[in-house]
Amino acid sequence: MDIGTNVTGKMVSALKNLGFDKVFDTNTGADFTIMEEATEFVKRFKENDNLPMTTSCCPGWVRFAEMEYPEKLKHLSSCKSPHQMFGAIIKSYYAEKNNIDPSKIFVVSVMPCIAKKYESQREEMQVNGIRDVDYVITTRELARMIKQANIEFDKLEDDTFDNPMGEATGAAAIFGVTGGVMEAALRTAYELITGEELKKLEFEEIRGAKGIKKATVKIGDKEVRVAVAHGLSNARKIMEEIKNGTADYSFVEVMACPGGCIMGGGQPIKNSKTRMTVDIRAKRAEAMYSIDERSTIRKSHENPILKEIYEEYIGKPGEHKAHELLHTHYTPMEEYRI
Ligand code: SF4
Repeated sequence: MDIGTNVTGKMVSALKNLGFDKVFDTNTGADFTIMEEATEFVKRFKENDNLPMTTSCCPGWVRFAEMEYPEKLKHLSSCKSPHQMFGAIIKSYYAEKNNIDPSKIFVVSVMPCIAKKYESQREEMQVNGIRDVDYVITTRELARMIKQANIEFDKLEDDTFDNPMGEATGAAAIFGVTGGVMEAALRTAYELITGEELKKLEFEEIRGAKGIKKATVKIGDKEVRVAVAHGLSNARKIMEEIKNGTADYSFVEVMACPGGCIMGGGQPIKNSKTRMTVDIRAKRAEAMYSIDERSTIRKSHENPILKEIYEEYIGKPGEHKAHELLHTHYTPMEEYRI
């Protein structure tokens, strides 16, 4: 199929064919991440507390920061990444609601990322001794599994995610592309700070392939400086600025893979002819943005499923239960510094 073809429905179908009992949408987890991260940012921004705050949903970046900038870990958001948050919700809220013993649930995340395998096994990624995510397979591995099972992927009918964890917003869909997490967080942070509706949802200045993108965003009467870095050499430049006190940003998104997760190390590898002739990164990014544009709900805080789960089970973002399930901490690892 053409690069950038949206095959979500077929992927759900294939996973059901492979024998998974339930297939939920990790993008719902991304909406949780935005709720928590935007809330954390707003608080830190108002209190001028350890700014700039950086995103923390990329385990490659987190590990890099732990090794190379252990004295600056307080700048990282304490939010777990989307699939880890999602695993924690499945094994708490979903398990309780459906009367299932959480130890009987085996959560497998399908990810574009090899680092997520390591992340899911980190000691911090559990709640009351129960691991958030039991196993991670990459999209490349999933494609191989589909082939091994002789499933004719292109002939599959589209299927839909299981509910109630199968609904996500356009904001969540753009997580995969560099700048997407920042854009999604700004949509929510804007409305949290001003209490007003954000009319223009696209933040063009932080889209595109440039290694470090910077923008000043007007939120109410405040000007918020943001930066987006992808690729660890660019992350290092930002961290050096933070270290020597010249970073004038309040909020920074970092993704270890150039291009973001759409170009993650776990994605299917294309042959050299395709790589030479097609701008894979641009095509995949286009697909993400078009999912967002076509979504009826494009802000994470408007996801009705989240509203229900916060109201019924978690309480408010950033409060005690949210911290217990959805946040983490980091460990300095200077002994591994390169
Ligand atoms: S940017 Fe790369 S390393 Fe980071 S989460 Fe995405 S795929 Fe994984």
